[in-house]
Amino acid sequence: MNNSQLSKSRQISLERAATLKSRIKDYLDVKDSIPNGLNPERQIEVEKKKQSILKIFNATEDNWNDWEWQLNNRISDVETMSKIIKLTDREVRQIKEVESSFRWSISPYYASLIDDENEYCPIKLMSIPNIVEIQTNDGDTDPMGEEFTNPAGCITRRYPDRLIINVTNECAMYCRHCQRRRNIGSQDLHRSKEKLQESIDYVRNNPEIRDVLITGGDSLTLSDEILDWLLGELYSIPSVDYIRLGTRTLVTVPQRITDNLINILKKYAPIYINTHFNHPVEITKESKKACEKLANAGVPIGNQAVLLNGVNNDKYIMRLLNHLLLKCRVRPYYIFHAKHVVGTTHFNTSVDDGIEIMEYLRGYTSGMAIPTYIINAPGGKGKTPILPQYLVSRGKNTIKIRTWEGEVLDYPNHPTEPIENLLK
Ligand SMILES: *Cc1c(COP(=O)(O)O)cnc(C)c1O
Repeated sequence: MNNSQLSKSRQISLERAATLKSRIKDYLDVKDSIPNGLNPERQIEVEKKKQSILKIFNATEDNWNDWEWQLNNRISDVETMSKIIKLTDREVRQIKEVESSFRWSISPYYASLIDDENEYCPIKLMSIPNIVEIQTNDGDTDPMGEEFTNPAGCITRRYPDRLIINVTNECAMYCRHCQRRRNIGSQDLHRSKEKLQESIDYVRNNPEIRDVLITGGDSLTLSDEILDWLLGELYSIPSVDYIRLGTRTLVTVPQRITDNLINILKKYAPIYINTHFNHPVEITKESKKACEKLANAGVPIGNQAVLLNGVNNDKYIMRLLNHLLLKCRVRPYYIFHAKHVVGTTHFNTSVDDGIEIMEYLRGYTSGMAIPTYIINAPGGKGKTPILPQYLVSRGKNTIKIRTWEGEVLDYPNHPTEPIENLLK
């Protein structure tokens, strides 16, 4: 290239770079106004709340860092909660009304993340009961028909090569948007060893099952001892390629990721964890540390967010969430469209909200920051991916594609010629 060609291509590149810069300006303008758990000012507020909770419980820093203390001291009465956060008399009455239908319980750690000054604090929306939960009967109790996909023990089988073992109904915090509310009941119940054994036997006797998901409830509310046993049993089945653990403890009680747990998980590699962060404010230095511990132990972590009205149905919040997850070495895996579950319908969004979020991820940010948007087909018919339309049309020898910036282009598409015809 001569100098004038070079300056011409540099000129074009600079113009293109200016356009690209303009494509991210809206995000950069709002990013810092989104509450974010790693923000130093935010951390000071959370620390204050933590200290006030420790005082209320007459507890120590060591207690706080002990996951069993966190579980044993979950807050589930409005008297204690009203010492921790500001609740109006009306809210107190309403929580009492809701709790007879739907249990609530919040780890002190998760409660310390509630921002009193924000009426629509995402932590509060996800954890504190709201009267709307009992004001309508709209919604299903078992939208995925799990009742009809239980071939043995505590298994849910909906796919050819993988299944779920549902090991407990206990969680460190009962999400107000929980799709398995019907299982939460009024007390914590780990499945009996017999039920677990029956499930393990099913996996052993059905060797097409190569991927076992242990979930609940929250699989990491099980004791280290039971986990060690269960993982060991599954690990000993030759047809099982790997095990996945479903847990929200990284979000609700990151203290759960102890050295002892890490040593157990290391024995049964490959183990994957899928967790459930929904909002940047849930990403704290404690949860980051827990994620890093797992990643260092060779446990890859994926995130399964749920699209929730008022919490994260926003293209900028979701983009920031996915960026922060990657900083914690968590790979965004799914965004679930919220199901129509009794008592949670105020969280439902339109599918358009989800498509808009996806539209403003692809191209705008790293492919690694882009989860798959999923609608669970009714009746347990399976996860169904939803995308903005990038394939505009299919003709005989061309297709029309749409780029992330909305440009529609023709792309050649010819029948595949068998390789033997081509290599002569
Ligand atoms: C979600 C789910 C799985 C796992 O699905 P992936 O797409 O592989 O993550 C397996 N079994 C059941 C019953 C499920 O609901």
